Amino acid sequence: MSRVYNFAAGPAAMPLEVLEEAQGELLDYKGLGYSVLEMSHRSAAFQEIIDDAEATLRRLLKIPDDYHVLFLQGGATLQFSAVPLNLMRTRHAGYVVSGNWSRNAWKEAARFGRADVLASGEESGFSRTPELDVLPDQTLDYVYVCQNETVYGTMRRGVPETGSVPVVSDVSSCFLSLPLNVSRYGLIYAGAQKNGGPAGVTVVIVRDDLVGDGPALADVTPQYLGYRLQCDKGSMYNTPNTFGIYLCGKVFRWIERTGGLEAMEQRNWAKVNLLYDYLDQSSLFEGTVEPASRSISNVCFRTGDPKLDAAFVEGAAERGIVNIKGHRLVGGMRASCYNAVSEEAVRALVAYMRDFESAYAGRS
Ligand SMILES: *Cc1c(COP(=O)(O)O)cnc(C)c1O
Repeated sequence: MSRVYNFAAGPAAMPLEVLEEAQGELLDYKGLGYSVLEMSHRSAAFQEIIDDAEATLRRLLKIPDDYHVLFLQGGATLQFSAVPLNLMRTRHAGYVVSGNWSRNAWKEAARFGRADVLASGEESGFSRTPELDVLPDQTLDYVYVCQNETVYGTMRRGVPETGSVPVVSDVSSCFLSLPLNVSRYGLIYAGAQKNGGPAGVTVVIVRDDLVGDGPALADVTPQYLGYRLQCDKGSMYNTPNTFGIYLCGKVFRWIERTGGLEAMEQRNWAKVNLLYDYLDQSSLFEGTVEPASRSISNVCFRTGDPKLDAAFVEGAAERGIVNIKGHRLVGGMRASCYNAVSEEAVRALVAYMRDFESAYAGRS
């Protein structure tokens, strides 16, 4: 077996132990004689799997009792619609546009009501996290932020001050990379494929009072997207992504076993700081994000010469370093250093950057 150093942005590296456990159980789950892939979502065995996934996640994030945990489908993208459909009680929300993900969410929300841009990072080329300088209108239904902009490699520190307006956050690409104070948010959600498991599962954590009697725009909201209904049905209004939820549960257990979110955060900063420190002293590569907004997971950098970037990416693959090409909106390189990416992998990347840089200096 040969495993490469995989810096994919999502779907992304999963812990080897989790893959091996799933492999061991693939044909015969705990003596039942069939696979989780072949299991009814209405069975006791699956109920145990989803309950354990939820309970582990609640312990990891210390989720307060008045928050529901949902395991839904449709990716983070379907939450761009579900959030306004459920929470736009007066059809007026505020959006902080910090990159392409929050911009897409804002555009979608504008289809259902008034979606004001409260702050935007556009003029900085999204190289830093835009902040709210004033308390937003207290009649807004919610204020929306994206905690970590995966494409641009920026991460918001903390939660914006919004008074009594609930904050909704897309935490897809920093979910479980570090502790999160759930009680400061009305709703958070994450596509699992960055750090929480495989593609096809979206975790939604929502405070009970926001769910109310049903979606605010009940007349136009597909039933599947109604949080109230999904809460009442335990995420099983229809067939959920059973195997995906099973794998998420294993990833949550793996995080717990390896020290929980505080330990994850320390390890993750230690990893990405190897890259940021290298970038700060390099005369060839430059980081694209201002230091105070740097992501804990997605490190974006470039040489400034697209040909040289391409040569770097190509040479990396020869060393077993893969998926470091930047998103097409930004170009250059992006190394996504999620929980399952080892420090060894990051050291290998930094060593390659050093070699590439000295070879380049020798040439020019
Ligand atoms: C990946 C990502 C998305 C989109 O996720 P899908 O599951 O593909 O819909 C949305 N927001 C953020 C922050 C992401 O990283």
